[in-house]
Amino acid sequence: MSRVFNFSAGPSMLPVPVLETAASEMLDYKGSGMSVMEMSHRSPVYDAIIKEAEASLRKLMNIPDNYKVLFLQGGASIQFAAIPLNLIGKTGKADYVISGQFSGKAFKEAQKLGFDVKSIASSKDTNFDRIPVITKDMISPDASYVHICFNNTIYGTKYNYIPDTGNIPLVADMSSCIISEPVDVTKFGVIYAGAQKNMAPAGVTIVIVREDLLGYAKENTPSMLDWKLMADNGSMYNTPPCYSIYIAKLVYEWILGLGGLEKMQEINIKKAKYLYDYLDSQDYYIAPVKKDSRSLMNVTFVTGIEELDKKFPAEAEKVGLVNLKGHRSVGGMRASIYNAMPYEGVVKLVDFMKNFAAANPKK
Ligand SMILES: *Cc1c(COP(=O)(O)O)cnc(C)c1O
Repeated sequence: MSRVFNFSAGPSMLPVPVLETAASEMLDYKGSGMSVMEMSHRSPVYDAIIKEAEASLRKLMNIPDNYKVLFLQGGASIQFAAIPLNLIGKTGKADYVISGQFSGKAFKEAQKLGFDVKSIASSKDTNFDRIPVITKDMISPDASYVHICFNNTIYGTKYNYIPDTGNIPLVADMSSCIISEPVDVTKFGVIYAGAQKNMAPAGVTIVIVREDLLGYAKENTPSMLDWKLMADNGSMYNTPPCYSIYIAKLVYEWILGLGGLEKMQEINIKKAKYLYDYLDSQDYYIAPVKKDSRSLMNVTFVTGIEELDKKFPAEAEKVGLVNLKGHRSVGGMRASIYNAMPYEGVVKLVDFMKNFAAANPKK
């Protein structure tokens, strides 16, 4: 078997033990005589899978009973529309913090639907190299919610604190950092995340919503975007993304087996520190993100020379370090080091970076 170290931002690496379990259960899931892909979502055997997935996620993230956990389709992107449709009914207004491309898209989607939304802070001026400062006085007192993107996948930035929004519910896109470290769910009204960065294959999106926020959806909200309808039907209003939910369950069990999110965080800090320590120790590569906004999951760096930035990912691929090319809006390189990336992958990357710098001096 020859597996590469895959630094893709998403879809991304999954833990090998999870893939092995899925492989062993592929043809006959626990004596059912069929694959999870082939099962009715209404069957008792599948019902146990989705219930165990929810129970494991609740345990892992310590989700209180007054929050619903939904397993939905449409990616994180469809939630950009679902959020205002479900929540803005309370006051008719909402605030957004623009910290990168995805939060910008969330804001524009709400505008497109004709909602009264306001951008209260942005780091666009500095090409999103930091998390904008948010203080309580910036928040509209009559906002139904404040939307943030907790980890900015493209730029490699992350909130190193949870903004205090007082009584106004905080809504956070955690697509690229969910279950990478413990988070206090009670500080949020809604947490949502597409699965394909750190949780499962593409297809399922998790929405964790505080119960008292359900019931404000506009009357004409499409059924598939109506969180209350989905919650009342246990995420089974229609066919859920069955197989992705099954893999998510295996991933949650894998982390619980390691020792939960405290342990996961310890491993993730060790990996990210190794890479950032190297970046800070030399001047061949430049890490554009401000130190207090650095992501544990997505690490961006450039050489500053276009030709070398192009050569780097191509050469890295030859030694089994793949998908290191940065997003087109940032350029350079991006190493996504989600939960499933082993420490050895990061060590091998840093070794490669040293060799590349030595072999390709800047003139
Ligand atoms: C990838 C990503 C999205 C978009 O997710 P889809 O599931 O492709 O819609 C949104 N927000 C963040 C932070 C992401 O990383």
